[in-house]
Amino acid sequence: SGINFDNYDDIPVEATGDNIPEPITEFTSPPIDSLLLENIKLARFTKPTPVQKYSIPIVSSGRDLMACAQTGSGKTGGFLFPVLSESFKNGPSEIPEETNRFSRGKAYPTALVLAPTRELASQIYEESKKFIYRSWVKACVAYGGADIGTQIRNLQRGCDLLVATPGRLNDLLERGKISLRNIKYFVLDEADRMLDMGFENQIRYIVQECDMPPADQRQSLLFSATFPKEIQHLARDFLNDYIFLSVGKVGS
Ligand code: ADP
Ligand code: MG
Repeated sequence: SGINFDNYDDIPVEATGDNIPEPITEFTSPPIDSLLLENIKLARFTKPTPVQKYSIPIVSSGRDLMACAQTGSGKTGGFLFPVLSESFKNGPSEIPEETNRFSRGKAYPTALVLAPTRELASQIYEESKKFIYRSWVKACVAYGGADIGTQIRNLQRGCDLLVATPGRLNDLLERGKISLRNIKYFVLDEADRMLDMGFENQIRYIVQECDMPPADQRQSLLFSATFPKEIQHLARDFLNDYIFLSVGKVGS
């Protein structure tokens, strides 16, 4: 797997939906925030991959997205670039005054990325650190099989972008260490693997938490290598007036 960067422009992309924004051809501002553009240069990403060309303007324009693309097609940048770009522009959101006894030391992330495994979550987190460099955004990662106390202390130092596996996130929610009421961006990465691993109920619980009033502002992005019935149902349940992207050969 991986991208052949010599000819990835040849990878066909099919976009379906209402009012699809024009794909970008280069990393440029707008729609990409100028600080993020500098960080993209520092990472030596010279041009967007096909999925990035489409997803960046789609997500920046506020639309929900269902993207099917193979491993190695650059999906991480496909969601990180527009989410961080918009976050950099918007600035920190206000932390609501909650009066219950659990609210002290609680994190209120504005962007949530769910990944199925510890390895994938930490990869996305490491990638995100390159792109939030010199910005106000703080990123945290939370997965099982690692000390939860350390993760909680990191969350308490500030968390705008949270990358997590569903099980550990639910544990942190139960312990009152995270509130999802400020979530503006909800990203489900490797959705098909998530369902294969039996995470569907946990994911549905997390989405409900994001949708607890007054948090009715969720923009959602689903990424998957395949698009079987189960994923179509998630898309129907989680997404609003979404754009469907199919990149290269997609299994079903
Ligand atoms: P996927 O999630 O689709 O499997 P990744 O986002 O992990 O793919 O990207 C695969 C590899 O390609 C990573 O090493 C990533 O850093 C690199 N990459 C992604 N987008 C670009 C780009 N626009 N230019 C150069 N390298 C890129
Ligand atoms: Mg990926």
